[in-house]
Amino acid sequence: MTAFHYRDGALHAEGVSLTALAETVGTPFYCYASGAIEDAYNAMANALSGLPAMICYALKANGNLAVVRTLAKLGAGADVVSEGELRVALAAGIPADKIVFAGVGKTREEMAAGLRAGILQFNVESVPELEALSEVATSMGLRAPTALRVNPDVDALTHAKISTGRAENKFGIDLGHIQDTVKLALSLPGISLEGLAVHIGSQLTDLTPYGAAFERLSALYRDLHGQGVPLRRLDFGGGLGISYDGETPPDLAAYAALVRKHAAGLPAELVFEPGRFLVGNAGVLIARVLYVKQGAARRFLVLDAAMNDLIRPSMYDAYHAFKPVRAPAAGAVEMPVDIVGPICESADTFAKQRPLPPVEAGDLLAICSTGAYGAVMSSTYNCRRLAPEVLVRGEDHAIVRARPDYAAMLAGSPLPDWLKDGQVQPAKRGVA
Ligand SMILES: *Cc1c(COP(=O)(O)O)cnc(C)c1O
Repeated sequence: MTAFHYRDGALHAEGVSLTALAETVGTPFYCYASGAIEDAYNAMANALSGLPAMICYALKANGNLAVVRTLAKLGAGADVVSEGELRVALAAGIPADKIVFAGVGKTREEMAAGLRAGILQFNVESVPELEALSEVATSMGLRAPTALRVNPDVDALTHAKISTGRAENKFGIDLGHIQDTVKLALSLPGISLEGLAVHIGSQLTDLTPYGAAFERLSALYRDLHGQGVPLRRLDFGGGLGISYDGETPPDLAAYAALVRKHAAGLPAELVFEPGRFLVGNAGVLIARVLYVKQGAARRFLVLDAAMNDLIRPSMYDAYHAFKPVRAPAAGAVEMPVDIVGPICESADTFAKQRPLPPVEAGDLLAICSTGAYGAVMSSTYNCRRLAPEVLVRGEDHAIVRARPDYAAMLAGSPLPDWLKDGQVQPAKRGVA
C-alpha cells in the first residue's frame, strides 16, 4: 500500500496526515486514497488493452459517490445490484450504456428503473426472472438487453461465504439448463438476448478457477453463436483478489493472458466486473484505542471502531493488517494482543493474538485494506452512527460522507400517536 506511508513519524494517506484528519473528523473514520484507486484501475485497463473490454466497477464494494465518480472519470462503467446503486452510478456520471445490472433477485421496479435509464444489459440468473424482465420490458414497449449468467460449477477456492460459482450456490443458471433457457429467451417478446456472463466468487487469489470458468463460458458462447444465436457480449465477472496479509494477488498480466486465450477469435465485446480489486487497498479505517485491558490470559486493545463499522472479520474471519498511525520506535518489540471493539458480542473482534508494537490508550490505529466491503457493509448496531468517509487526493482531502448527528438518528424514528406524551390512548382492540 504505497498510498499509505509514514512521513515524519506519522502515517499519511498520500500527502495528508491521518493524525490531523482524526483531529478534524473524529474517529472512527474511513479514508480512501484517490491515487490508489486510479492506479488499480489503470493497471487493469492496461492489462486488458487491445481487447474490446469494458471495466464495469462493482459498486457493492464501495458505493461512495466520490469513489464512484473517481472511477467514472477514468472511463469505468458500473456493475450494479440495486436501484440505489443504479442511481449512484448515474449520479456519478457513468453513462447508462456502460451499466450492467446484476443480482439474483431484481424486483420489477428495479428492472423498470434499469430499462428507463437505458442500461447496457441485465444479467439474468433464472427462468422466472427472465419471464418477469420480459413482462416489464413489454409493458414499457421495450426489449431488455439481456445476458444469461451461467453457473459453471467451478470452485473458486475462496471463502465459502464469497464463493458463487458452484452448482449448489444460488447464483446463475446451471450449464445443463442453458440451452433451454436460451430458447426461451429468444422466444420472449421483451428480451433481446445479447450475451453470457459468469462470476464465480470474490477474493480469488488463484487463477486456476478462472481458467476453468472462462473455458466453459467461451465454449458455450462459441457453440451458441454457431447455432445462430446473435450473442455479442461475454461478461467475465469480477472477483480478482488483493493482498491482505502479504499473499500474492493474481498477476494481472496472467489474468489478461487467460482472458485473451479464451476470448480469442470470439465475436464478443468483453465485460469485467471488478470491485474489491479497484478499491480494497485504497482504504483504511482509522480507529482510536480507548483502553488497553490486561485480562487474565490476554491483553486486549479496545477500539472505538466496532463490528458495525467493519464486519469482515466477524463475518468472513477476514484478516486485516493493523498499523499504528504514530510510527513505532526503532527496534520496538511486538507483543501479541487481541484487538476488539466495544460491542457486547464476542464476534466484535478484529484480530486475535496479533503481534503489534507497544500501543497506548489514545493512540490511533489504521485497519488496512478496508476500502472494499467496509463502509458499505456498516450498520448502526448499538445505535452507533455510521463512520464518516474521507477521500484524499495529494495534499487535499474532503469529507465524502459526514458522520450523521444524533438528532438525525432520532428524527428517523417517528413515534406513533399512541405512544406520544399527552395523547389520548386509543381503545384497545376488542374493548368497547
Ligand atoms: C460481488 C460481485 C462482483 C464484484 O466482486 P469483487 O470480488 O469485489 O470483484 C462482480 N460481479 C458480481 C455479479 C458480483 O456479485
